Amino acid sequence: MHEFSLATSLVDLVLKHCPQDEELESITVEAGPMRGIDPQAMQWAWQAATDNTAITGSKVELIQQPWKLHCPDCHTDFVANDMFTNCSCGCQKTNPIDSDTLRLVRLTLKEPATLCT
Ligand SMILES: [Zn+2]
Repeated sequence: MHEFSLATSLVDLVLKHCPQDEELESITVEAGPMRGIDPQAMQWAWQAATDNTAITGSKVELIQQPWKLHCPDCHTDFVANDMFTNCSCGCQKTNPIDSDTLRLVRLTLKEPATLCT
């Protein structure tokens, strides 16, 4: 389950960026299709990896990117549902590009609680 090692490295990254006195609501991660991340497994991995940390209870929102293919014949880049999609020129030897992206795009903090004085 590679989602777990992924979640662990994300936790390290988030802890470095998340302000100490703020509570983290969720993180948003953008992942290329080559990563093959299962959203459900990612959620569990995140829960396990954040257990006993300052950001326990936060959620992970996964944005799965579509396949982006490059055609070596007509030099077109296009978006497809899977990596075996033929180019509109008929070429079947398309190559995936930018498909192993993994990017932490956003940290969402909880609304600061109203302080009673
Ligand atoms: Zn083509």
